[in-house]
Amino acid sequence: MDFSHIRDNFENLKEDTSKENLKNGLISKEDALKLFNISKGNDYLNLFSIASEVRDYFKKEIEIISSIHITNICSVNPKCYYCGFAAGTSKEGYYEPFRTTDEEIKNSAIAIEKSGIMRVSCSSAHGYGGKETLRTLKIVKENTNLEVLVNAGADFTENCIKELKKHDIDIICCNLETINNKVFKSVKPGEDLENRINICKLVKKYDINLSSGLLLGIGESYEDRANHLLFLKELPVDEIPIMGFNPYKDTPMENHPKCSALEQAKTIAISRLMFPDIRITSPTPTIGAELVQFALMGGASNIATVIPDNHPMNIKGVGNPKTGNLKEVVKMIEELGLTPKIKK
Ligand code: SF4
Repeated sequence: MDFSHIRDNFENLKEDTSKENLKNGLISKEDALKLFNISKGNDYLNLFSIASEVRDYFKKEIEIISSIHITNICSVNPKCYYCGFAAGTSKEGYYEPFRTTDEEIKNSAIAIEKSGIMRVSCSSAHGYGGKETLRTLKIVKENTNLEVLVNAGADFTENCIKELKKHDIDIICCNLETINNKVFKSVKPGEDLENRINICKLVKKYDINLSSGLLLGIGESYEDRANHLLFLKELPVDEIPIMGFNPYKDTPMENHPKCSALEQAKTIAISRLMFPDIRITSPTPTIGAELVQFALMGGASNIATVIPDNHPMNIKGVGNPKTGNLKEVVKMIEELGLTPKIKK
């Protein structure tokens, strides 16, 4: 595949990084579809090379975000077919119901900050109108200077979003997973895509940063992925988590094939070319903690679900139980000549 026009577009963008040029990105939908269909090693190398260059131009450091899980007691019924997080879904996951106490949240946040990590993702299952994330946000902000992302899927009321803003939320995450309604329903029969889209729009209505991502390998087509990315551009999104499907035992999708690290890295790279300057996130459990370097080569700028040794809770990944250890993730970032964003 010929990458010269993408390189030319990058040179032009460097000359003029206006909002409009950044929004246009470096590739069209047609280019994205061609890139999704590459199969030669050399094309992958060229794609990763330019995506990394673009990331390095706009992002001088690789961000790292840790996790606090608030509760796994989820009111969605039936449970999402891939979910290993909610109580009773997978013996590999938490399985037993839990609700993290105020004290546990405080101790986890303090430990994360002490480790040098500067951001934390706090996620809650459905059924609380987002109030569990508000409780957590207040505790984390009262006790640390961590940047806070909260995620409760579609389970936010408008009032709760306003309250989160009042309490200095940094970013709210609501993943659409896929924009193809049929595919969405086939893996999340207890949820409506429309509700998730509405939450994304509400977050933007209150001028709060929005994170919204893709779950790869659940039956969506390349065209769906390209349409999804274009939809995110219009919201507009401030962070895109790119997650590969990674099966949890005992769930209805335990035999569904895992999305490969290469496929994830390719999607990250295409996203980087469409969104040159935004935060693109790869959670360690969904790519496989040991394969994070693929995501970095694809142009990811943020590694999620990174757990320091001193984290007081036994955190399991969402998407796969295995999380990334801080020391190992830092080592992997540095091995690629990149700089982790961490307080020394
Ligand atoms: S993925 Fe989220 S919404 Fe779906 S069952 Fe699991 S915790 Fe509930």
